[in-house]
Amino acid sequence: MNKKDYYEVLGVSKNADDKEIKSAFRRLAKKYHPDVSKEPDAAEKFKEAQEAYAVLSDPEKRSQYDKYGHAAFDQMNGGAGFDFSEFDFSDIFSDIFGSSFGGGFSSFSGFGGRNSNRAQSGSDRLMRVDLTFEEAVFGCKKELNLDVYEECEECHGKGGKGEKTCPTCRGNGTITREQSTILGSFMTRTTCPDCKGKGKTYESNCSKCRGTGKIKENKNIEVKIPAGVDTGNRLRLAGKGDAGYNGGPNGDLYLEFNVRDHSLYERDGNDIYLELPITITEAVLGCKKEVPTLYGNVKLSIPEGSNTGDKHRLKGKGVEDLHSGSKGNMYIVINVVIPNKLDKKQKKLFEELSETNLKTSEFDKIDNFIKKNS
Ligand SMILES: [Zn+2]
Ligand SMILES: [Zn+2]
Repeated sequence: MNKKDYYEVLGVSKNADDKEIKSAFRRLAKKYHPDVSKEPDAAEKFKEAQEAYAVLSDPEKRSQYDKYGHAAFDQMNGGAGFDFSEFDFSDIFSDIFGSSFGGGFSSFSGFGGRNSNRAQSGSDRLMRVDLTFEEAVFGCKKELNLDVYEECEECHGKGGKGEKTCPTCRGNGTITREQSTILGSFMTRTTCPDCKGKGKTYESNCSKCRGTGKIKENKNIEVKIPAGVDTGNRLRLAGKGDAGYNGGPNGDLYLEFNVRDHSLYERDGNDIYLELPITITEAVLGCKKEVPTLYGNVKLSIPEGSNTGDKHRLKGKGVEDLHSGSKGNMYIVINVVIPNKLDKKQKKLFEELSETNLKTSEFDKIDNFIKKNS
């Protein structure tokens, strides 16, 4: 399914400033809020506008979106676009509809509010992991330490003991109120403040989790990181995120890698570059050099007349591709190092050499020009 461009959804240009984005969202929210709107597809339109606003009103998310489009958030939410359920709309809604709306609107049922008694999956977590060059290239096992929210064992995630139907909402989880706003008076449904939408309350709150149903736990998990990952790659560990709500599944844990530089190798995708210093005589006469590859040392023949910048390809000596398993190449880049100190014997040899003609045809052009110019 092709998702609509967020700027298009809000009807603003790509260079719209914060003010324009906010006022575009206000206009759409007034028009499409499901409690207000009579348009047939209001709920869908309202959701679209919420999602677009949640992204474009946040400078960091906006710049990610500008760079990568919807793909910027796809990985985090199974391709369903940006998950704005954690976004706090209360400020702008109270701004639009009056302060009494704040909390009620952001938890409007069906928009990802976490208070209803539907089963919902837990939050996804993102963790950044530093790897050495070798760990990334060859894969490794890592022990990671992180805090996740687990279901409270004491109350099985319910948050309390002695379950009973909430008297305030009579078990509905929502209460209906008449609201007066600038748009006139109408009925609005809000989450029940006493049971937080569960429809149930408890004789006593669970003391272990203080009624939240969740316990923060510090865990060590061992993760196998596949060979070939690179900076910015993400690995998804299904079900290793926070515990779900009302029996819903756990969220996922995403690892984002940052690969440290190597002292010799430079990596470009699956290719490896190595700068190889050679002496002036090795360059002139040619030589055989031992070079270190990812898979041990190999002998490389450097032909006579080599220059700085000459490249030699070692096929298949690069990094194994994360997905296909095929290997990239290694490139040896020659760097001819001119000595800045010579002993007596060397100096004498160079002086003798300088009396010979070392000029190649490459010198003709400038020599001729100098002649004409004099
Ligand atoms: Zn508990
Ligand atoms: Zn209630």
